[in-house]
Amino acid sequence: MTAIATLGSHCSLQVLKGAKDEGLKTILVCEKKREKLYKRFPFIDEFIIVDSFLEVLDNNCQQKLDENNAIIIPHGTLIAQMSSEQIESIKTPIFGNKWILRWESDRVKKEELMRAANLPMPKPVSSPSEINSLVIVKRQGAAGGKGYFMAASEEDYNKKRNELISQGVISKDEILYIQEYVGGVLAYLQYFYSPLNEELEFFGVDQRHESDIEGLARIPSEQQLKNNKVPSFNVIGNSPLVLRESLLEQVYAMGDNFVEAAKRMVEPGMNGPFCIEGVYDENAKFSSFEFSARIVAGTNIYMDGSPYYSLLYNEPMSMGKRIAREVKKATELNKLDKVTT
Ligand code: AMP
Repeated sequence: MTAIATLGSHCSLQVLKGAKDEGLKTILVCEKKREKLYKRFPFIDEFIIVDSFLEVLDNNCQQKLDENNAIIIPHGTLIAQMSSEQIESIKTPIFGNKWILRWESDRVKKEELMRAANLPMPKPVSSPSEINSLVIVKRQGAAGGKGYFMAASEEDYNKKRNELISQGVISKDEILYIQEYVGGVLAYLQYFYSPLNEELEFFGVDQRHESDIEGLARIPSEQQLKNNKVPSFNVIGNSPLVLRESLLEQVYAMGDNFVEAAKRMVEPGMNGPFCIEGVYDENAKFSSFEFSARIVAGTNIYMDGSPYYSLLYNEPMSMGKRIAREVKKATELNKLDKVTT
C-alpha cells in the first residue's frame, strides 16, 4: 500500500485527512514541540518525531518512509526550511515535480518561467536607482512576506533596507528583488494539473491576510503617518474568494499556459497542485507577482471542497483529497512514476 507523508505544518492536516479519506496510510514528520498538537487528530496513522525537519534528509528517516512506500507531499514549509539542493537530494518519491521547486525559490528563474508562460507581470526594477514609482521589495524564497517593504524612491529604499538590517530581519549581503507595486484586489488562483488525465482543473481562489500591512489600513491616516515602523507582509491566515464568472476564461488560459511552459522548461512539468498569485486592477486586468509550484496553504479554507470543485466533483473534494486520489489512481495503473519525481 502507498502511504502519504508530509511535514507537520502549513497544510499537513488537510493533506493527511484527504489521504485518509481515500484509504491511504498517513505519516506525519513531526517536530517534538508540535507532537501534542498533531496527536489531537485521529487520521494520522504514524508519527516520525524529529528535532528538526532537516532530519528528513537522514537515512534513518528516509528508510522509515521507504518501508511504508511513502510519497512526500511538498509544501511551503519544506521550501522555507530546505535548500533546493537538499530537496532534490531526497530519495523518497516527492509528489509533483521536485525540480520545479527550485524555480519557485529562485527569483530569476521564477521570472523566466512566468515570462515563458506569458503571465502578465508587474514590471521588475533592476536597481534601487531606477525606482520612480511605488515598488515592493522582496526577499528570496517563501519567507511568507516577512521582511518585505515598500519604497517610493532610492532614498526611501536605502532608509528602509538599513532599518531592516539593523533589526536583524534581513542580512547586509541579501539580494533583494524590486518590483512595481500594483494596487487592486489580490487573488491567489489555485489549480491542479493531472499528469494522468493530462487535464487542468481550477480549484479555487483565496486571499491572504498579512500583518502588519493589513493592520495599517485600520488606523486613521494621522496615526499611519506617525508610524515609522517598516510594515511587513507576514501571512496570518486566508479567506475565500469567488471571481466574476467572466474572469474564468482568462484564469484557465493562464493555468494552461503555465502548464505548457513548465512542460517545456522543467521536465516533467507542472504536475499536481500549483498557484498563480496576483492582483486585479481597476480594469480587471490581472498582474501576477508570484507562483507556487506546490500546494498552497490557502487551499486549507476548502477542506470540505471548494466552489469550483463542486462543479467538477459530486462529492466534497479538498486539494489534499485530490492529491491522494491521483496517487491512488497512479498506483492502480502502475504509473506512480508519472505523478512523482
Ligand atoms: P509574494 O511573496 O510575492 O507572494 O508577496 C507577498 C505579498 O506582498 C503578497 O501577498 C501581496 O500582498 C504583496 N505583493 C507582492 N507583490 C506585489 C505587487 N507587485 N503589487 C502589489 N502587492 C504585491
